[in-house]
Amino acid sequence: MASTYDDRLNRSRRRALVAHLCERGIDNERVLRAIEQVPRHAFVEPAFKERAYEDEALPIGQSQTISQPFTVAYQTSLLNPQPGERILEVGTGSGYQAAVLCEMGAQVFSIERHKALLQRAKRKLRALDYNVRTRHGDGTEGWRGMSPFHGIIVTAGAEEVPEPLLDQLHEEGGRLVIPVGAAGSHTMKRIVRTGPDTYERESLDAFRFVPLVNEDE
Ligand code: SAM
Repeated sequence: MASTYDDRLNRSRRRALVAHLCERGIDNERVLRAIEQVPRHAFVEPAFKERAYEDEALPIGQSQTISQPFTVAYQTSLLNPQPGERILEVGTGSGYQAAVLCEMGAQVFSIERHKALLQRAKRKLRALDYNVRTRHGDGTEGWRGMSPFHGIIVTAGAEEVPEPLLDQLHEEGGRLVIPVGAAGSHTMKRIVRTGPDTYERESLDAFRFVPLVNEDE
């Protein structure tokens, strides 16, 4: 009984979150439907379950966070993954963003540098039947063996765009969505590969992310 009540409560909280994201300007219907489906409460720490559907980043351990739902919706809308596309996420964190990408029908690959976070995310994704290929390591190197990717989404703030990620985009229209800037102030960038050596770059809104850490730092 309690779980039916929880399910109903969490579903209605998700609907309210989606309404809020619409009000904030998210208009990609497929992204909104995915956010309405994915149980974010399953990806937050038990102490924060009651706050899972607030539009807030929340701690997940190792000084890291599950991104704010608006940020997830914004980045996913820019990436606009299509069913069957190969998408690489850098920064698995809790696994929530990866689940949203799966819900949209993408083939998802995700890299995380913190082993403990990755193990926990893998357990949660598996328990919810989200099929994500994961790797422990430095995502600034990308995942060459699985490339090219139709899309790459970086969920930590980079000081500059890592060259290997540009190189691992599909030559015809591969998209990279990445926050770039100095610590505490990042500009969202979308970079589209238009040929072997050509890219179109857009600079969008300002965000604040935890840092993307190179392995040699
Ligand atoms: N996408 C995550 C989610 O849905 O919960 C949120 C990610 S959190 C804001 C950023 C993550 O990037 C952290 O888990 C952090 O450990 C990871 N990270 C930072 N630098 C990295 C790197 N070079 N390679 C892989 N992961 C990295």
